[in-house]
Amino acid sequence: MSDEVTVLSGVKAERSQLLAKLGIQTIAGLLFHAPKRHEDRRHFCAIADAKLHETLVFRGAVVELGLKTFRNKQKCIFEMVIDDGSGRLHCRWWNQRWMMKNYKKGDSLLICGKVKDLRPVLMEQPQVEVIDNLDENCVHLKRLVPVYPLTDGISQRWLRGLVWDLLFVEQLEIPEKPWSAFLPDTYPRLKRAFEMLHYPDEPFQFALGRNRLALDELMDLQVAIQSRRRALESKAKAIPVVGDNRLIKPFLKNLEFGLTGAQSRVLKEIRADLNGKAPMRRLLQGDVGAGKTVVAACTALMLMESGWNVAMMAPTEILAEQHFTNLVKWLGPFGIDVVLRTGSNKGEPLDASLFGRVDRPTFWVGTHALIQESVELKRLGLVIIDEQHRFGVAQREKLLRKGSYPHLLVMTATPIPRTLALTLYGDLDTSILDQLPPGRIPIKTYLRSPEKLPKVWEFVMGRLKAGEQAYVVYPRVEQNSDGEVKTVLEQKEVIARAVSPYRVEALHGRLKPAEKDVVMGQFRKNEIHILVATSLIEVGVDVPNATIMIIENAEQFGLAQLHQLRGRIGRGGKESYCILVSATEDEEALRRLRIMEQTNDGFEIAEADLSFRGPGELLGSSQSGMPDFRFADLIRDLDLVKESKRLAASYLDSKEEFKLK
Ligand code: ADP
Ligand code: MG
Repeated sequence: MSDEVTVLSGVKAERSQLLAKLGIQTIAGLLFHAPKRHEDRRHFCAIADAKLHETLVFRGAVVELGLKTFRNKQKCIFEMVIDDGSGRLHCRWWNQRWMMKNYKKGDSLLICGKVKDLRPVLMEQPQVEVIDNLDENCVHLKRLVPVYPLTDGISQRWLRGLVWDLLFVEQLEIPEKPWSAFLPDTYPRLKRAFEMLHYPDEPFQFALGRNRLALDELMDLQVAIQSRRRALESKAKAIPVVGDNRLIKPFLKNLEFGLTGAQSRVLKEIRADLNGKAPMRRLLQGDVGAGKTVVAACTALMLMESGWNVAMMAPTEILAEQHFTNLVKWLGPFGIDVVLRTGSNKGEPLDASLFGRVDRPTFWVGTHALIQESVELKRLGLVIIDEQHRFGVAQREKLLRKGSYPHLLVMTATPIPRTLALTLYGDLDTSILDQLPPGRIPIKTYLRSPEKLPKVWEFVMGRLKAGEQAYVVYPRVEQNSDGEVKTVLEQKEVIARAVSPYRVEALHGRLKPAEKDVVMGQFRKNEIHILVATSLIEVGVDVPNATIMIIENAEQFGLAQLHQLRGRIGRGGKESYCILVSATEDEEALRRLRIMEQTNDGFEIAEADLSFRGPGELLGSSQSGMPDFRFADLIRDLDLVKESKRLAASYLDSKEEFKLK
C-alpha cells in the first residue's frame, strides 16, 4: 500500500507527476482517491426514446463528423452525428478544435449529457468516451462507473482502468486493521470496502464502503486517544490532595458573590478527580460569562492547600493580565504569590517567587511565555489552560511536562458540538457550566443596515450619559486596497468627534503590549468610554460596566466569533445591547446574522456554525489537533463517532486481557 504509484505498469514519471497534483503518490493514495459520483451505465437509452432536458447516456457509432470555423477561423464548432440503430444524435462542442483528431467514422462511442432538442436529438458539450475494446466492457460499461476528480492530462478512462487493475486484476492484498475482528459483520472487509467505494454493484454499496473507511479513520483516532489515556492511568499516580479547606473556605466567604449551583457541582466533580488514582484530565465547558475563572481559582486553592503550585495559561496578554489582576485581588489576601509571566515581562530578572518558594504557594499566570524552556515551575501540581481552543495539544503537553504528571484543567467558552467533543477531546472528562450567574439579563441583539447608524449612535449617547460603556468592533485595523470595510483607525477619529466630550480609544494588535495595558486599564476604570477595537477583544475580556457592543461589517465575522464578541457585554446587572451592522445581501450571511438575533445559547450557535463552516474552521486552526479526515464527516457521522469510541474501548480491553494472560 505504501509503494509509489510508479511501480504500476502504465505509470511513468510524467503521469506520476500529474497524479501527485491530485495528491496521489502511493498505491494507498490511489485507493483513497474517492470518486465524486458514479454514473449509471447499466442501462443505455435508445436515441429514439430521448426525452427533452434529461441527462441520458447513449451508445452508438459515429456516422458523420466535421469542423465549422467562422470569424476568420477564430471560432469553431465541432460536430458529430451518432447512430445507435434506433435514431440519430447530433453533438456539438465549441472551440475544441483538437477533438477533430481524436475521432473517426465508425468509432463506437459512449455519450453522456443533457438533451437540448428533439428535432434533431441534440446535445451540447456532452462527455464522450471511445469504446475501443470489448474487454473493457466490465470497467467502463454495463455498471456503475466511477467519475473521479481529475487534473489536466489525466482522463477518467485511464484512472478508472488503473484502479480497476489494482483491485481486480492484480488482486492487491490490503492488510486488515488490528481491530477488524471487533467490527460488526455489517461492515465489509477493508479490501471489499475499497471495491465498493470505486466499483459498487448497487448505489448502497458505495455508502457501505465509505462508512467502513470513515470508521477506520475514527478508530485510528480513538485508539490513539484512548491508549494515551490508558497509559496515563497505568503509569502516572495522581498528585495527592488532602483538601482540608483551609484556603477555600475563607476564600468563598470573602468572595463578593456566592457560587452558582453549576459552579458548585463542577467543583465537586473536580474534587473527585483530584482524589482519584490517576491525574485529573478535565475539560470545563461553559458559555461566555458562565464564570469559569472562579472555578479555576477554587481548583488552584485545593492544590495549594497541599503545598502545590499552579500555572494558568491564557491565549492573549490582555487576558493573562486580567486574570492576574483578579487573582491578586482574590488570592493575595491568603498569602499566595501571584506571578505574571507574558512576552512583555520577558526582560525582567527572574524573581525568586518564579522558582516557587517553599513557604508561600505560587500561582503563575501567563501566555505562551510560560512554556519557554527557561521557565522553571517548581512543585507544579495543576495546569490550567484558559480558552483551550486557542492552543494546540502540543502546547498543552509542553506545559504539563514542566511538572511530573500534574493535574490538568482545560477551559473553553466555545461550546463544542457532540461529535467534536467525542473526537478531539475524547481523552478528557467533561464538565459543563450550564447556568449563568444570577441577575444576568439576556442580551438584546439587533441586525441593522448602515443607514440606521445615526439612530444607533443616538441610542449609544443615551447609555453613555447613564454612565455605561461601549465596544465598537471593526474587521480591520487599517484600509487595504479594496477599501470596502470600515477600519479601527479611521472610525476611532470619526466616533471621537461625534461623541465628544466622551473619550474614545483604539485597541488592536499593532499596539505595543504596554500601550494595550494602558488602554485596557483606563477602560476598566471607566476613564475611556468607548473602545474601538478589532476582534482582539473577543476572548475573555471582562468589564461588567460595558453594556453596548456594536459590530460593523458584521458579515465578515464567523458565528462563533460573533458570539464571543457579544459575550463581552451582559456581564453586569444592566440591560445590554448588541447591534450587528451590515449592508450584506448575501443570503447565507444574513441567515448567520439572524441566528444571532434569535438566540443567546452558545450550543445552538455552535451547532449552526459547524453546519455553515465545517469543523476545521470552527476550531480556529490546524494546530487544534484535528486530523484531516478523507471520509469521516463530523457533521453527519455522530453515530459512527460513537461506534468508534465503543469499539476502540473493547479492542483495547482485549489487548490488556491478552497481556495479563
Ligand atoms: P468566563 O466563563 O467567560 O470565563 P468569567 O469567569 O470571566 O466568565 O466570569 C464572568 C463574570 O461573572 C465575572 O465578572 C465574574 O466575577 C462573575 N461571576 C462569576 N461567577 C459568579 C457568580 N456565581 N455570581 C455572580 N457573578 C459571578
Ligand atoms: Mg474566561
